[in-house]
Amino acid sequence: MRALTKLTAGPGLELVDRPEPQCGPADVKIRVLRAGLCGTDLHLQDWDDWAAATVQPPLIIGHEFYGEVVEIGEDVEHVSVGDRASGEGHIVCGVCRNCRAGRRHLCIGTQGIGVNRDGAFADYVVIPASNVWVQPRDLDADLGAVFDPLGNATHTALQWPMVGEDVVITGAGPIGVMAAAIARHAGARYVVVSDTSDYRLRLAEAAGADLTVNVTRESLADAQRHLGMREGFDIALEMSGAAPAVSDLITNMNHGGRIALLGLPHEAYDLDWGKVITHMLTLKGIYGREMFDTWYAMSQMIATSERFRTAVTQVITHRFRAEQWEEAFETARSGQCGKVVLDWS
Ligand code: NAD
Ligand code: ZN
Repeated sequence: MRALTKLTAGPGLELVDRPEPQCGPADVKIRVLRAGLCGTDLHLQDWDDWAAATVQPPLIIGHEFYGEVVEIGEDVEHVSVGDRASGEGHIVCGVCRNCRAGRRHLCIGTQGIGVNRDGAFADYVVIPASNVWVQPRDLDADLGAVFDPLGNATHTALQWPMVGEDVVITGAGPIGVMAAAIARHAGARYVVVSDTSDYRLRLAEAAGADLTVNVTRESLADAQRHLGMREGFDIALEMSGAAPAVSDLITNMNHGGRIALLGLPHEAYDLDWGKVITHMLTLKGIYGREMFDTWYAMSQMIATSERFRTAVTQVITHRFRAEQWEEAFETARSGQCGKVVLDWS
């Protein structure tokens, strides 16, 4: 089968012929139809310090995907051949304290598909049946491929009730833009999105942001003035990983404000901890998706709201055939894009 592979420890990727993965008794084999590109895939191509410390080549990369089930293991009961499915990219251990308490997103031994084991930038991928999310047959295939990042956005945005709250989202990458659509759907009063890119802020506007802020020209304090806000934001979703964005948030939250942090910083940074304390802020780190409450919530938002479905679909700005993977990676790297999807069908 075709597989986009990290063959040796070092920069680069190759589209090569690899044996099809074998389906174990509790596994499901999926014929990949679409797969989404994520920042992780760019890090793997670059072979940065994180990739070098994490990955053991040869490895097929890719973890955002949608496809058709073509084989099930003998112990598999709730997934059938012919089902259309997306995959949860985190495989949990099942035996740690959190797993056994049903808090699988907090697993201490999480393995990443396309990072710690072969992934989905290939004709076929094998995953445990427990990681399969069966999709409605009429779901658009491209949408099916973005449930992983949509799940990151959903898990982050639904940390606290949003009805009537003033919400700020820092970072208008694909996940930040999806989060703007969720905040709108979940009843926020104002949804403000910041980024350094006008292209990406336009995507956030299309997704339902009331106001966008290009932080190279304006600050969140300016945004508050434009909207006539007096006290500060109630909820923040940090989706840039940029230290200046976090500092700007800390100074623009209302007392008791809540900040959910999804964006991964490149290195350690300083914060004004005095303000965190005296403004009584809550900071919460977010990783992955809740298994499978997040999947349930996003599926119902997609199923019940035309507006929401359209907003998420519009985040997908570029589609490439698998053979055009180099162009797809260049596009993702340029930042002049929303979500980039590879067609493996
Ligand atoms: P992305 O890199 O496409 O988007 C980040 C955006 O932040 C970019 O558009 C960038 O221009 C913007 N930005 C940079 N500096 C900024 C600043 N000072 N203020 C506001 N915006 C700024 O990433 P994405 O795919 O949308 O993912 C969002 C973040 O979440 C990334 O940091 C990613 O690594 C992280 N992530 C975390 C998890 C998790 O489980 N915790 C999962 C997926 C992604
Ligand atoms: Zn576990």
